[in-house]
Amino acid sequence: MTQTSITRSWVASANGHSDFPLQNLPLGVFSIEGGAPRSGVAIGDHIFDLEAALDAGLFDGTARAAVEATRGGQLNAFFELGREARVALRERLLELFAEGSTLHGKIEAQGAKLLPLAANCEMHLPAKINDYTDFYVGIEHAQNVGKLFRPDNPLLPNYKYVPIGYHGRASTIRPSGTDVRRPKGQTLPAGQTEPTFGPCARLDYELELGIWIGQGNEMGDSIAIGDAADHIAGFCLLNDWSARDIQAWEYQPLGPFLSKSFITSISPWVVTAEALEPFRRAQPARPEGDPQPLSYLFDQRDQAAGAFDIELEVLLLTETMREKNLPAHRLTLSNTQHMYWTVAQMVAHHSVNGCQLQAGDLFGSGTLSGPQSGQFGSLLEITEGGKKPIELASGEVRKFLEDGDEIILRARCSREGFASIGFGECRGKVLPAR
Ligand code: MN
Repeated sequence: MTQTSITRSWVASANGHSDFPLQNLPLGVFSIEGGAPRSGVAIGDHIFDLEAALDAGLFDGTARAAVEATRGGQLNAFFELGREARVALRERLLELFAEGSTLHGKIEAQGAKLLPLAANCEMHLPAKINDYTDFYVGIEHAQNVGKLFRPDNPLLPNYKYVPIGYHGRASTIRPSGTDVRRPKGQTLPAGQTEPTFGPCARLDYELELGIWIGQGNEMGDSIAIGDAADHIAGFCLLNDWSARDIQAWEYQPLGPFLSKSFITSISPWVVTAEALEPFRRAQPARPEGDPQPLSYLFDQRDQAAGAFDIELEVLLLTETMREKNLPAHRLTLSNTQHMYWTVAQMVAHHSVNGCQLQAGDLFGSGTLSGPQSGQFGSLLEITEGGKKPIELASGEVRKFLEDGDEIILRARCSREGFASIGFGECRGKVLPAR
């Protein structure tokens, strides 16, 4: 049994909390009542104010240096410190919040100064994101989408050799809760030869895992596959909102552009590799006949434990459903085990040409669909490009997202003998085009 598999907390709401029990301890940046953004750790229904705790003398040694690096409302410097600092902080937090902690009284005495209720806080982006890259490692999604365009040949020949990706837009990444303004752009109406300009009519979501880069590399150097996991600071949920009609017209020959760059939503808590340790899995075996990864992408240890078992869920809540008090409709239930490439392979590939990665860079995994209906991570797949609308309990139908629709991503890790942890939500509501 590891330390994280059994411990209860004196923070009552942490025990059995669906997202943030003592075993999770994700980091984030929050503010209260318009105050300056500051770093914190989610525990139960509360946020542990790291900066206030630092001032209260609750950290020393490596853990203290780690918390010092979280000052200023951005976690980049903390990410840069790497695994050792992260582990030292985690161990100190486990000590502070475990049932029977000698510091229980001291922390509780300061009340909301150290442990405000999360409901009273606003969450911000956890780091300054210099660069954002979106991959395409969800092989079921790649096949589903490929089939819509090339029924006989859904995967292009490079897919099983190259972790496919493109450079996304960092400036429009926003935390959960930020509204999504319907984008405008050029689209080519069916049967026409010339485009029209107007609001996107095929607005979609993409269910993805977000990957936060920790220590980077110098330009010209690359990160070896065997070291790549140590360059990851943590994980979040990511919704790569997509304007399918704009995308269909613009994407050839260079890939997505304005169809993706209007907003990308992320869950604000950074779930660490340490919290996910019990939920690591072997990378699923490649189907018979698939090529082995080239050697710069192959590492025995990464193949043995470089995948994760994270259940992913997407919910839809329309304006009408909210008015009628209907529960959100589940669109997707999927899992991170549908990734053809591991997160370490993404890091190794991204840097193999000498491209510099920096602390606080963000990767998206690509849409993580499963093979069955009910597991598709986008409406493009669920409705087969709008051909098969879905019916909702409200009596409404949807081919793509309408104004007022809200998409909610959630994630959960469970394993016998271990506390379940979650990621918190990544939500966004569609507003009409302006
Ligand atoms: Mn995407």
